[in-house]
Amino acid sequence: MLDVAARLRQLSDEDRDAIRLAQDPQFPRWLQQITATGGCTNPIHLAGVTTTCDTVTGEILHHYDTRNEPGERLLIRCRNRRATVCPPCSRLHAGDTYHLVRAGLLGGKNIPPTVRDRPRLFITLTAPSFGAVHRVGERCRPRRDRGECEHGCPLSCGAVHDLAESVVGQPLCPDCYDYTAHVLWHAHAGKLWDRFVRATRRHLATAAGLTQSRLPEHARLSFARVAEYQRRAAVHVHAVVRLDGPAGPYDEPPAWGSKERLIEAVRAAAQRITVGTPYSPAVGELTLRWGTQVDARPLRADLDGPPDDAVAAYVAKYVTKGANDAGAGTDYRLTTRDDIDAARVSKHVRSLMRTCWRLGDLPEYTPLRLRAWAHTLGYRGHILTKSRAFSTTYAALRAERACHERGDGPGELAHASDAVTNAQWRYADSGHTSGAVLIAAGVAEDLAANREIAREAIREGDGRP
Ligand SMILES: [Zn+2]
Ligand SMILES: [Zn+2]
Ligand SMILES: [Zn+2]
Repeated sequence: MLDVAARLRQLSDEDRDAIRLAQDPQFPRWLQQITATGGCTNPIHLAGVTTTCDTVTGEILHHYDTRNEPGERLLIRCRNRRATVCPPCSRLHAGDTYHLVRAGLLGGKNIPPTVRDRPRLFITLTAPSFGAVHRVGERCRPRRDRGECEHGCPLSCGAVHDLAESVVGQPLCPDCYDYTAHVLWHAHAGKLWDRFVRATRRHLATAAGLTQSRLPEHARLSFARVAEYQRRAAVHVHAVVRLDGPAGPYDEPPAWGSKERLIEAVRAAAQRITVGTPYSPAVGELTLRWGTQVDARPLRADLDGPPDDAVAAYVAKYVTKGANDAGAGTDYRLTTRDDIDAARVSKHVRSLMRTCWRLGDLPEYTPLRLRAWAHTLGYRGHILTKSRAFSTTYAALRAERACHERGDGPGELAHASDAVTNAQWRYADSGHTSGAVLIAAGVAEDLAANREIAREAIREGDGRP
């Protein structure tokens, strides 16, 4: 049997640090803080004071100072949306996104339930082809008669690929693949979307016999969109689009505003709009457009619910992903060419990163910031974007949660109408010590298990544990 000294020697540094934390007299309060962050893997440490006073009587209603906290700090969530960076915060963000999209489709969170009777579409816009890539499903590129390209690569494949195969999404010939167009398309995807929305409004106006400038007096188009990387490392866009009356979610659309009209307008806009790239002596001027596959489906207006819920869940799933989840980029910025060489990505993705690096050096492309966005292959849009009237906001959802949680600290809101809050916060640090990482991961696991138990109880029908 090992003696205690030998056992202690076997402990890892993480274990030792965890023991040190657990022996601290303030450990219970520290654990409360960790639990309040949901076991966030990289919490922000704040130091500061907040005081709420009654403006009439001058009475102090609430006072909080981090000087009384463990380490004189308050830990708050990192709020990263990426599952690979912080699983607990990412789960929370996905939940918020789900509620945000769901409210835009079905009502709730200050959006009226009547939105479910409005013309609503789920649309998918893709990038065009930049060259032949290996595909899943049916036989891949079965063009037996066509020989080789000028670089000596076969123009056909004929295999039946499984989704897990690394060859899927890789070009048949990297030299034929138009990396320049792919990267420049990513860099202009935000502009393509903006033009698409404007063109949809224009088509709606024209179909209704209105000038474009009069459309806001009759109808309002709202959307929430999410970007996703396909296997070929090109972004495509899923969006939920809704047509309301001029005042937004509370207002009925005009009689001409049917879902058929909306589908026509979306299709026509996606097929027709183009964006020109800035002129470059090396590249010339490219005309960019959406891919020819435009999917626009009406969402059901009956009361079965699941389709709308499924759409909200589908969109929420994507916001937790980054380019790296699809193998199309990295979690971190690439600051040198060596970073690109060292990144653990496919040859195809590395070529896209190198193209960003090369084109990023050309003065005509400076505004596209291709080097700063090489890790996302030139795409610099947000993962989720929504128009103002579509639904509630992330900020409103967070405020609502803060009211529920009612912990001490900056999340707490003063509710008395005569109260004024004076808060002074400064950033002190971020992250965890090695032992705290272990404890936070344990807390996150426990919370996830508790949620699962609660869900099962609800499924069993009584809703009680
Ligand atoms: Zn976090
Ligand atoms: Zn193939
Ligand atoms: Zn070739």
